[in-house]
Amino acid sequence: MYQKNNYKVGIMGGTFDPIHYGHLVIAEQVRERFLLDKVIFVPVGKAPHKEGVEVDKFDRFNMVKLAIESNSNFEISSIEIDKHKKTYTIDTIKELKNNIDAEIFFITGSDAILMIDTWKDYKELLSLVKFIGATRPGVKKKQLENKINEIYRDVGEKILLTSIPKLEISSTDIRRRVKNKKSIKYLLPEKVEEYIYSKSLYLIKK
Ligand code: ATP
Ligand code: MG
Repeated sequence: MYQKNNYKVGIMGGTFDPIHYGHLVIAEQVRERFLLDKVIFVPVGKAPHKEGVEVDKFDRFNMVKLAIESNSNFEISSIEIDKHKKTYTIDTIKELKNNIDAEIFFITGSDAILMIDTWKDYKELLSLVKFIGATRPGVKKKQLENKINEIYRDVGEKILLTSIPKLEISSTDIRRRVKNKKSIKYLLPEKVEEYIYSKSLYLIKK
């Protein structure tokens, strides 16, 4: 349990299938810009929106662990992968709020912001934590602003937007590259790359 007053914690959720520099850059940039004391990475166990998660939750957890080990401001939580059923962000946030005495910020890429009204109990979720949307290539600024305004009109909560160096990296593309025997070097930390090859991950489409 964190005890410090005015403690600010960022939560970075994702399937991380696998984790890559796009994830790490948004977490670090948001941490610095919003003066967060920590960012906790929360790999999803069973994702409600994705049927196609390819590798085991323990491998995804291990890869996140390897990716963040050199950053003392980053942590990982197994709160979602410890569950055997599908998990929803609202339930995770409620549980985390009971365990962490801090102001909580939820960090997402802007593609996730466009989908936010499909999340379970999103209105309540938006009232429980401050959402920070970081720019991601492929998402039009106008579309994003419209969505944020619409949410503000309907829910009365303002989603914060922040511009970060844009990296056109996705886990989907990395998985495709591994399958096609293409290089993934410099798209993700070397230790994660080594882990993928040592366990022969992503070679066969599940
Ligand atoms: P997939 O291609 O499997 O969907 P992904 O690269 O989108 O994977 P996720 O695990 O789905 O990664 O994303 C977790 C969070 O990180 C989401 O909020 C997503 O918007 C954000 N994110 C992922 N990649 C980037 C990126 N390159 N730039 C900004 N945000 C990103
Ligand atoms: Mg995604």
